[in-house]
Amino acid sequence: MVKISEAPPGVEGPGFFATTLDKAVGLARSNSLWPLPFATSCCGIEFMATMASNYDLARFGSERIGFSPRQSDMLMVMGTIAKKMGPVLRQVYEQMAEPKWVIAVGACASSGGVFDTYSVLQGIDRIIPVDVYVPGCPPRPEQIIQGVMRVQELAATESLNRRNSEAYRELLAKYDIK
Ligand code: SF4
Repeated sequence: MVKISEAPPGVEGPGFFATTLDKAVGLARSNSLWPLPFATSCCGIEFMATMASNYDLARFGSERIGFSPRQSDMLMVMGTIAKKMGPVLRQVYEQMAEPKWVIAVGACASSGGVFDTYSVLQGIDRIIPVDVYVPGCPPRPEQIIQGVMRVQELAATESLNRRNSEAYRELLAKYDIK
């Protein structure tokens, strides 16, 4: 079943509908999120299930999986991230164009999970900013979908100026991201 997106808040009358540019752009962005799956272990399998016909992430406009960072705007990190892999993940993040959103899928990406060891990054937010955390080991596809819907909400309500704001620059500066 095709679900028609709801119009953003605006002013409606006979033959016209008016809203703000922020809301119109937010509507488009939130319904055309292009995921970049950075899957390193078991949580990646849950993502595969999320993409398959039973859960069908395409319903959210997110069927276009991209393995080129420059053509994706939703980084989904799924799996244990070894410290050695940290710089690679960070490079992928930096290559993505703004606006971009990050989901830490599962306990490992969010906090290192059960791997409290010298070699495992204890959460990807140590090296890149994260917008949504999905708990679980592994999270079920429904939870991953909920994470995507949270990003949709963020994208739909984000001000067009946010990425140029002082607060956003400060956030990136904390991670030493230029
Ligand atoms: S959170 Fe659990 S299921 Fe996901 S990658 Fe880590 S160990 Fe595997």
